[in-house]
Amino acid sequence: MKIKCNCGNIIVDQTDYLRNKGYIISDTQWFNFWNSIDDAIEQSGPSAKEKEEACMQLRILNLFKMAWECQNCGKLFINDPHGDLLTYSPDNKNYNKVLDKK
Ligand SMILES: [Zn+2]
Repeated sequence: MKIKCNCGNIIVDQTDYLRNKGYIISDTQWFNFWNSIDDAIEQSGPSAKEKEEACMQLRILNLFKMAWECQNCGKLFINDPHGDLLTYSPDNKNYNKVLDKK
């Protein structure tokens, strides 16, 4: 996937562990996510297969929106539920590394 930013930079998403890519979750979904993890740990069956299935169910929930930050101007691109990209620009127009680990 490639995203062309208005500043001229092209964001390339063709691998894992990108420093300018992240995932966003709403506050209401945040608690559901942690409850689902608790359920997967506490209520999955004892076998390895049952535990694996519980973990896969967590991945299927897909509660997160993907986000990319332009490494030139700092604009955030966030995918909405329809697959379109919404954009948000920081006032300082800098790459602030908001999605990178601190
Ligand atoms: Zn940009």
